[in-house]
Amino acid sequence: MQSYICRNKCAACYRQYNKVEHLVEHMRVSFHSVHEPKCDVCQKQCRSYESLREHLIGPLPKVECARVFSVRGCNLCLKLLDSSSALRSHRAACQFSRTATGLISRMSRLNLQAGSYIDNGQMSGSRVVALGCKMVGGGSDGSLDLCARVCLVGEDENIIFHAYVKPQLPVTNYRYESTGIRPEHLRDAVPIKQAQRRIQDILCNGEPMWKVRSKGSKARILVGHGLEHDLNCLGVEYPSILLRDTAKYPPLMKTSKLSNSLKYLTQTYLGYEIQNGIQDPYEDCVAALRLYMRMRYPGHPRDYASGCSDASARNNYPAWRQRELERMTPEALLDLSGSDYYCWCLDSYN
Ligand SMILES: [Zn+2]
Ligand SMILES: [Zn+2]
Ligand SMILES: [Zn+2]
Ligand SMILES: [Zn+2]
Repeated sequence: MQSYICRNKCAACYRQYNKVEHLVEHMRVSFHSVHEPKCDVCQKQCRSYESLREHLIGPLPKVECARVFSVRGCNLCLKLLDSSSALRSHRAACQFSRTATGLISRMSRLNLQAGSYIDNGQMSGSRVVALGCKMVGGGSDGSLDLCARVCLVGEDENIIFHAYVKPQLPVTNYRYESTGIRPEHLRDAVPIKQAQRRIQDILCNGEPMWKVRSKGSKARILVGHGLEHDLNCLGVEYPSILLRDTAKYPPLMKTSKLSNSLKYLTQTYLGYEIQNGIQDPYEDCVAALRLYMRMRYPGHPRDYASGCSDASARNNYPAWRQRELERMTPEALLDLSGSDYYCWCLDSYN
């Protein structure tokens, strides 16, 4: 009897099914893969970091895992360390210590004062850039988002490009309490068309637009939070295969499949606060970049079969193989399964 139950237990998420055909159906829709966040205690795989958090430290955690995790687990990256002293030394690096964030706010305040135009696009060799924008309001009720300040940051967290931008439409609400932008910031600001061209050039990195998508192209990977909206407001087009959006990345989304805010993700997974009072696009860039870097080096085994962006179109469990699939072990079924999203760890192999 016991072996019958075990036979129908999913080898990834440990859900159990009375009938083997239900397990096969579960595998068909789950897209389990080595790229899913995993509990270091019981090895259970979760769809997102949010469900892994619930499993380890949520209001109703898995009791045995929570007990081990509370002694030597990091509540930011959710990794299990070898000992409680190893955890202590790990925390400083994982948390992005206060000095680092102090530096950020000092630097950004400096920029705000100087109203400075920065362009290091030619010099930067960074393959990855992060984008942040601040929007002011246009239209009769001020609800239309107009980009008024833009920042690009490289892998080393140095500013590649920063400018105040003059929108094409009149500004009806400066949203000063959150943007810190006043009319005088925009008086001599860069015209949006000019900022557009410059940003496009920096992203393409010397490649013509038609070559940007091809393998081996020098075009840069663009990181951000809610990139589609930012690019729309800027009027910049960039292929989606080069976008890494922390608002749209399944492992960083809510279990309800809605986006988390950048403020929440930074607090929960990086351990510090952003967007208190006047918001700085530099701070947003750095937060999105750090989240990307954390997701990019999760220590997944190298896996060529999984993580293709078109995996959702591929059916690894075709109906004509049903009888054969029902005879397979749960482990063999899992081996067949592939991710339905592009895991960012694959960027580190290119
Ligand atoms: Zn499962
Ligand atoms: Zn991965
Ligand atoms: Zn567990
Ligand atoms: Zn950690």
